[in-house]
Amino acid sequence: MCGVFGAFSPRNFVAEEVYLGLSALQHRGQESAGVAWIDENRRVNVVKGMGLVYEALSQSVLAETPAKSAIGHVRYSTAGGSMLQNAQPICANYAQGPVAIAHNGNLTNFESLRDTLENRGAIFQSTSDTEAILQLLAHQPQRRPFEALMRALAEARGAYSLVVLLEEGLVAARDPWGFRPLSLGRRGDNYYVASESCAFSLLGASFVRDVEPGEVILINERGVTSYRLPLESKKKWLCSFEYVYFARPDSMIEGRSVYRARQEMGRKLAQVETANDVDFVASLPDSGTTAALGFSAESGLPFEAAVVRNRYVGRTFIQPTQKVRELGVRIKLSPSPDLFRNRSAVLVDDSIVRGTTAGLVVAMIRECRAKALHLRISSPPVRFPCFYGIDTPSSVDLAAAKYSLDDIARTVGADSLRYLTREAMIEAIGLPPDSLCTACFDGQYLGGEDASASCGGNCGKIFD
Ligand code: SF4
Repeated sequence: MCGVFGAFSPRNFVAEEVYLGLSALQHRGQESAGVAWIDENRRVNVVKGMGLVYEALSQSVLAETPAKSAIGHVRYSTAGGSMLQNAQPICANYAQGPVAIAHNGNLTNFESLRDTLENRGAIFQSTSDTEAILQLLAHQPQRRPFEALMRALAEARGAYSLVVLLEEGLVAARDPWGFRPLSLGRRGDNYYVASESCAFSLLGASFVRDVEPGEVILINERGVTSYRLPLESKKKWLCSFEYVYFARPDSMIEGRSVYRARQEMGRKLAQVETANDVDFVASLPDSGTTAALGFSAESGLPFEAAVVRNRYVGRTFIQPTQKVRELGVRIKLSPSPDLFRNRSAVLVDDSIVRGTTAGLVVAMIRECRAKALHLRISSPPVRFPCFYGIDTPSSVDLAAAKYSLDDIARTVGADSLRYLTREAMIEAIGLPPDSLCTACFDGQYLGGEDASASCGGNCGKIFD
């Protein structure tokens, strides 16, 4: 999971706005951050570093950097390792001009694309799949960059929500399946593109609309022009986990409030089964809190903020190694002994992936001498890996793929464990079932449902 942000202004100095936009998307990636822009000499420039946005980048330097358009990226590695070499945006000054790309998602045909490109003489500088898009573009030096980009994307499969910087303007592109969200915002004649709409409010910009699956938008002095990729998908595959966990609750995705969806998941979870003699509902903050509020409203049980989160430590799920993840939980979450002592609680969390967080928190609550602890999960069991940009690369790491639900409850130390069903989760999201990816819950991958190579509309004006 990563966050991308792009800004265009007919005047100047948008690099700082990209910095601010990235800060609002920090929850999507904490390993590295970067900003790229094109200078008056037609050269692409980039600054990037490891860590959080404020650690990796200098706001004061970016504030004084002249740039009419700029893009940025916060990274959590899914393809390629956690190293500065793989930090984005990735950039090049090639025969046709400057280009910079920031990518959220995972190309499922990266290996074959790389083989093909290397056979054509490409030398990859990183292990990131995003570089394949750059190489595909650069291998068409006779075409103008925007046209070359469209042709490059026609060869990519899997998940990509991109912001791209070209001399022709700022480009936003979303794969035909629509795996990852991408939104368009506006303030006056400034335009913004962001992984999530929550990034616009910080800049006083308004959410305009989602970038549609298969849509490519070019933003420049002439305004906003929409194109279609020459690929169409029979079904959309918007990641349901965005609503469960990844996205910020103040974001809107496909017209659906993430907060409302999460609250509804909690309500429906309360309908699954409420344990007897429970005194209150608590959550694993922050990601379980909205669902816990819904659970509380539906069950009539009071909500208590009985687990406290240290706000200065990052999200455990997006830390790169198991060791850091385990340490992170203890540093990050702390149950309140006074609230749990001799009382029974329902503890709501959004998901159990590896089981690390749940096990450690339940153990800490047991140390508070809780009478009983019932764990409720506001999504279905995660049994399958994700190949579309989320760090669950193997079933070996997934608790629900290895163990029965009773075994998980025993292992994490809960008195009972219940999950939301897949159907209830989809109902709570409120989008048609055939518009969502639920592969990590049910193993239904894109597979044979591939994009057909048909022109979706106005691609004729791009391809000769
Ligand atoms: S497999 Fe799961 S995490 Fe990955 S895109 Fe699909 S729903 Fe999202």
